[in-house]
Amino acid sequence: MRLPVIGYLSDRPTAWPLDQPVPCWCGANADTWVTGRAGDGTRMDLWECSGCGTMRASPYLSERSISELYTDYMKNSPDEFDVEYTRTQQQRNFIQSNRLRFSSILDWGCGVGGGLSVWRGNYPQAVIEGLEIDPVSTALAIARDFRVKSQVWARYDLITISHVLEHVRDPLALLMSARGNLTPSGVVFAEVPHVPRTLWNWKWIYQTELPHCWYFQPGGFRELFLRSGYRVQDIDTGRDIRIFASPKQATEDWAGRFDPWEGRHANSA
Ligand SMILES: [Zn+2]
Repeated sequence: MRLPVIGYLSDRPTAWPLDQPVPCWCGANADTWVTGRAGDGTRMDLWECSGCGTMRASPYLSERSISELYTDYMKNSPDEFDVEYTRTQQQRNFIQSNRLRFSSILDWGCGVGGGLSVWRGNYPQAVIEGLEIDPVSTALAIARDFRVKSQVWARYDLITISHVLEHVRDPLALLMSARGNLTPSGVVFAEVPHVPRTLWNWKWIYQTELPHCWYFQPGGFRELFLRSGYRVQDIDTGRDIRIFASPKQATEDWAGRFDPWEGRHANSA
């Protein structure tokens, strides 16, 4: 579910059906309209939330137009594997600066398997799996001998969510759902683009109909994780926005269950 190159989309003036308006994930309803509905046929408005500073496209593309976009795009992008691979190599340095050992890894929105290849090369003993809803990407990843699912129930040490959250209508729900797929000591890594906030950029985004619902600021992205029940351990805003986080609830549950004296308290005998 990754669209790093948007050149070819700019040839298509709003053929894509839009869906319902999108409220901000933070629940605030005080917005500033930034650009959109300029009379050139595009219907996606961009709004900036005064609560969390996140910019969003509302109304956003329908589920069907998004899946058509992805499938169409995948057929025309044989180099997508290399883009994913290179990006994951860069993310790996950040992830491993926080933690080195993982025995199970899920790439949420694994695309054609570029990221999975990096993890398989670095953790040959680990369980490496992908989650992907696009059938074209899934087939390409499976052809590279990866296990790719459209739904997961298992728990993992590391879940990577790379360039996915900016595309989905409800990033809060996605992160809460991912929390349920972590082991008690599991961690999440996520990365989204960090778009400079210039009016020129907004107009460009709006006219190219980039299929991004969200344009996060570092502070708002961090807040999204806190609201989804995570403890943010590291954040990097050098180029994109990267976060390394652990589930707050799981950590607390774990602490409550763990008795360092194994019941042999001095006064209890
Ligand atoms: Zn907001």
